[in-house]
Amino acid sequence: MGAAKQQMLHHQDQLSVATNIAVEADVLSRCEMHEDVVLDNETDHAAAYKLANWKFNHGELQDVFETRREMTDAIQEAILNSSSFGCNSCESVLDD
Ligand SMILES: [Zn+2]
Repeated sequence: MGAAKQQMLHHQDQLSVATNIAVEADVLSRCEMHEDVVLDNETDHAAAYKLANWKFNHGELQDVFETRREMTDAIQEAILNSSSFGCNSCESVLDD
């Protein structure tokens, strides 16, 4: 596997770990019907960073994130990737 590809997979790993942390912190949630759809709970995003920092301080994330900065960047990206407008797939079913 090339370095670029490996780097990309590593980034996806980081993003999925960050998403799970944000879900655990109740900042994001997953659509019950579509697991790949991540929704913004519209609460204070700080809770996700707090939980991530706690995990990082307790050595839980060191194999995924080399630095705290990498981790907070991934959390931020996970939140940016989430939807504030509900799940498109569910809404298109409702429209039928
Ligand atoms: Zn859905």
